[in-house]
Amino acid sequence: MTTRIISSESEEGVKSEGETTYQSALTQFHAAADKLGLDDGVRAILSVPKRELIVHFPVKMDNGGLKVFTGYRIHHNLSRGPAKGGIRYHPNVTLNEVRALAMWMTWKCAVVNIPYGGAKGGVACEPKTLSLAELERLTRRYATEISMLIGPESDILAPDVNTNPQIMAWIMDTYSMHRGFSVPGVVTGKPVSVAGTQGRVDATGRGCTIVAKEAAASRGLPFDGARVVVQGLGNVGSAAARLLAEQGCKVIAVSDAMCGVYCEKGVDLDALMSHKKEYGSCKEFKGGEEISNKELLELPCDILVPAAIEGQITSENAPKIRARLIVEGANGPTTPEADKILEDRGIFVVPDILANAGGVVVSYFEWVQDLQFYFWEQGEVEGKLEGVMKRSFREVTALAEREKVSMRTAACMQGVSRVVQASTLRGVYP
Ligand code: NAD
Repeated sequence: MTTRIISSESEEGVKSEGETTYQSALTQFHAAADKLGLDDGVRAILSVPKRELIVHFPVKMDNGGLKVFTGYRIHHNLSRGPAKGGIRYHPNVTLNEVRALAMWMTWKCAVVNIPYGGAKGGVACEPKTLSLAELERLTRRYATEISMLIGPESDILAPDVNTNPQIMAWIMDTYSMHRGFSVPGVVTGKPVSVAGTQGRVDATGRGCTIVAKEAAASRGLPFDGARVVVQGLGNVGSAAARLLAEQGCKVIAVSDAMCGVYCEKGVDLDALMSHKKEYGSCKEFKGGEEISNKELLELPCDILVPAAIEGQITSENAPKIRARLIVEGANGPTTPEADKILEDRGIFVVPDILANAGGVVVSYFEWVQDLQFYFWEQGEVEGKLEGVMKRSFREVTALAEREKVSMRTAACMQGVSRVVQASTLRGVYP
């Protein structure tokens, strides 16, 4: 049988989004670098990734054709430890987007003080159009293509947008097949039955909930009964919404990529998640009023949790945001221009590299367990996560107050200064 080339995934038309995201990451870095008084040499090192791998690879499609996909794996900085960062499957994945996400991972790991460098990867694809078998072949081939970089001592992968524990299990299996024995520590976010950890699925949302509570307390905002809006009902957003509701908040609106649902007396999250499971989205859910994502972000509320993708709060809608507190579940949801507007309006933002670090913290716990082949109880994971998140929140808040800067700049200063310290101690080779 002859195979037919169908097409290649194209980056055309979406480059500017990735560029904007990378520009945002660089703007945030330079604001922190200015405050820290970094010299030009250190700035030059940290403003570019250490290495970038681009792969173009074919996947056999179910209809007998071939399709060529483009994937990336980028290491931003490895001064503090092995590369760590998720894998994203999305049509808008570009080199610049992955660069930004890798840079944020470097600062994030340093903010919560875990011994990792920053990395990120992704494949430009629309996973909704792939069958399970195609998704598995794409994943195994991508893992093989980037295998010169990955490993438990060099680069540890994890889930991100549109990737999940099953995909992590395929990556672990693929890498292990090449080695001839099981290597669980090459990837985190695996199912518990294949050397995953208790508590990883909820970890990012749980971390958001912990810092939301700390932030509310620091602002004198009652947490019990706080009106919450969550954008994005994926891994991060669905856990954050459920855990915030469990802690006494009232989740009045949530959304996915299709639409939002608003219900002033509180959205029935169990019913909504069952609806999503059956119909694939929030659309036509009867337990509330359908609203757009644009309307959702502008609802009056106490706590807004953007937990979808980057670039959602911009100079256009920032003047209309009516939240008292923003807890960034997503990476890069707020542009630097919007940040300035929110700051001027006195809206307290817990930035992504702090707010959503719970995922990488529990990934670190998973990796430690995998390296020791000794597994912890759920309570131990959750207790240690809470300790790290609270300590990190306290450290960043203290720095923000001392330096009279926003939480974003303080978190970035904290992350950058720890990376600079490690780089300086190690020196420049040769
Ligand atoms: P996911 O794929 O599980 O869920 C993403 C959700 O966002 C889905 O509900 C999707 O419908 C929705 N969405 C996508 N585009 C949207 C749009 N334009 N408007 C509104 N909703 C939209 O992804 P995830 O793992 O939950 O990641 C979400 C964000 O959190 C990303 O920015 C990711 O980088 C970040 N993050 C994830 C983790 C993790 O552990 N998974 C950790 C840290 C940060």
